[in-house]
Amino acid sequence: VCEIHHLWTEFDKLVVHRNLDLTLRKGEVMALVGGSGSGKTTLLRHIIGLTQPSSGQIKLFGYVLGKLNRDQQRQLRNRFGMLFQHGALFSALNVFDNIAFPLRELHQFDEDTIHLLVMHKLALVELEPEHAQLLPAQLSGGMIKRVALARALVLEPELLFLDEPTAGLDPDRSEAFVELIQNLRRQLGLTVLFITHDVATLSALADRVAVLADQHIVANCPIEALGKVDHPFVRNFFHSVK
Ligand code: ATP
Repeated sequence: VCEIHHLWTEFDKLVVHRNLDLTLRKGEVMALVGGSGSGKTTLLRHIIGLTQPSSGQIKLFGYVLGKLNRDQQRQLRNRFGMLFQHGALFSALNVFDNIAFPLRELHQFDEDTIHLLVMHKLALVELEPEHAQLLPAQLSGGMIKRVALARALVLEPELLFLDEPTAGLDPDRSEAFVELIQNLRRQLGLTVLFITHDVATLSALADRVAVLADQHIVANCPIEALGKVDHPFVRNFFHSVK
């Protein structure tokens, strides 16, 4: 579903990605790990079209990014969802309106349909109908993540991007959130690419792990195979997995 070829990203003199290649296949859950500042979030932002790389190619569902007409952009927009780090909810909007936001942006749905879709997603992330009227400030950290996840799923995408889904959650909430993502993955047949610094999240969720270091992907394999990867970041990071 996503193919990245010869990607370069430069900010002034800082080279973040150097000739990076990565492929995400339909139905797989891939973790993207790497040191702080290694360019993980920047890579996700390129893939969802928020920013453009300096050069190279990103193909999403067969579409080459940067060369899309409005119609193609719109079609693509329905096919993936993104959970931003810390949820990124609109603080002035209640839970219902936060989840409804992507639907209203498309101007394709009447209010009855919006209501049905929003309440369905609220149930999907295991929140109660009463939660719909609350403001983000009234929610716990775990609930904020669930609302953000409901918003990411509201257009019923087949591909989901998660930027540090369990960051800021205590171990219990983190485990519950991982379990929810696993259930949704099975129920909805999602393809998932997620960034994490957390070994427990990674072990619980990922089929494959892509390691971003030295400006490119230095390993891309199932967790069990990481022991054979000879790279200092991999050795340090996965010490606790082995
Ligand atoms: P973390 O794990 O700490 O979130 P990351 O791997 O997600 O880090 P990025 O946020 O992608 O890293 O940033 C990679 C590098 O690119 C950093 O050095 C950052 O300062 C730089 N960077 C990111 N966006 C910009 C920008 N718009 N302009 C200039 N530099 C940027």
